[in-house]
Amino acid sequence: MEPVMERENDRQQQLLPHSHQAWMEVNLTQLERNVSLIQAHLAHQPLQMAVVKADAYGHGAVVMVRKLAQCGFTYFAVATVEEGIQLRAALSNHTILILGPTPEAQIPEVIEHDLTPTVCTYRFAKELHDYHLEKGEDKPPVSVHIRLDISESSIGINLQTAADFVAEIQSLSTLDIAGVYTHIPSAYGGDLEVAEAEFASFLSTARQLKQVYGWTNCLVHAQSSPGILLFPDLACDMVRTGILLYGLPVLEHASLPGIAPLMEVKARIAYIKTVESDKQFGYGYQYRTDQKVRIASIPIGYNDAMFLYYWQQGQVLIHGQYAPLYGQVYMDYFLVDVTHIPSCQVGDEAVVIGRQGENRIMAEQLAAQCGIDALHADCVHLWGSRLTRTYIEEETGEEEGDTAHAT
Ligand SMILES: *Cc1c(COP(=O)(O)O)cnc(C)c1O
Repeated sequence: MEPVMERENDRQQQLLPHSHQAWMEVNLTQLERNVSLIQAHLAHQPLQMAVVKADAYGHGAVVMVRKLAQCGFTYFAVATVEEGIQLRAALSNHTILILGPTPEAQIPEVIEHDLTPTVCTYRFAKELHDYHLEKGEDKPPVSVHIRLDISESSIGINLQTAADFVAEIQSLSTLDIAGVYTHIPSAYGGDLEVAEAEFASFLSTARQLKQVYGWTNCLVHAQSSPGILLFPDLACDMVRTGILLYGLPVLEHASLPGIAPLMEVKARIAYIKTVESDKQFGYGYQYRTDQKVRIASIPIGYNDAMFLYYWQQGQVLIHGQYAPLYGQVYMDYFLVDVTHIPSCQVGDEAVVIGRQGENRIMAEQLAAQCGIDALHADCVHLWGSRLTRTYIEEETGEEEGDTAHAT
């Protein structure tokens, strides 16, 4: 080993535990700002359900729901019973809706943890009713939300058969129809007139059902983030907000000014080496240096988020400057060229997503560099598995950028 290089890596000895080598920062003050901006945009629909599936899109659901509850949320949505159970302790008095169909085998857990299942088959509704009758004579009815499907190609009851379906469900006396909803995929792009017409026909069916059956406390909901952006005045009782809460892009031509992402991903340079020209590197030696370069190893790899395996033409920020990805991403590391940042050392911070100095790397840029549509920057949910999370609350009355750390 060259003496120079040994000196370069000396700092590694005094480094923090492994968990501090690569981490995620989540800005809870920005979450509050996003919530207020969405609320102001939705002047006519006071209720928001926070969609916190996939560990709150990778932001850490337990901390996120506590903050969201402080912000006034009383409705939360998850994908599975397991996710609902995980959040129940943090959300003692709140509604937790399971968005998809629930396996019948999980009915006991649904009841035990007071989760609100989605009903989209008669069989499930009947099983739920029977179980409840058997176990819970003196218990209040189980709240359920009925899911309708306008596309006729997705989860839910087709509109044409909704009336018949509901007539059957109505006979199950232990079920309380607390909501009727739909999810409208066309809102995510394509023809907006189609989306608008779909929202309208869902609404008219839902209203009719509500009226016919006298469901006074039944919440009608349809919009997710794109519907919130495009049709804020829709006469629904509630919206289901996911991507927008997290400040990620939703649509190419519509956004809400001021909405900003919460998540930053950072790591400390783990190793630095100066490599002579014409040296082979990478698995299978598929690369060769074409000049003398100074290379930094960043301790993040496709183990942290599988899509990084496909990362190309990427960069990170070090000392406020862009350092380009060098070669391929490994399981636990990737390399960047820091030849032009001679002052950087082992232990210095590299920003993979987020801001450093004047520059900024957005999640959607990284997504695009990994071959993922920029409008699927919600793939950030995959960052959750190994990075430690640090939650940040900006201190009020301080200069912008002044932050206090709380874990
Ligand atoms: C994920 C999901 C949402 C949230 O969608 P966003 O686009 O993230 O706002 C809303 N409703 C259903 C049924 C979902 O599955």
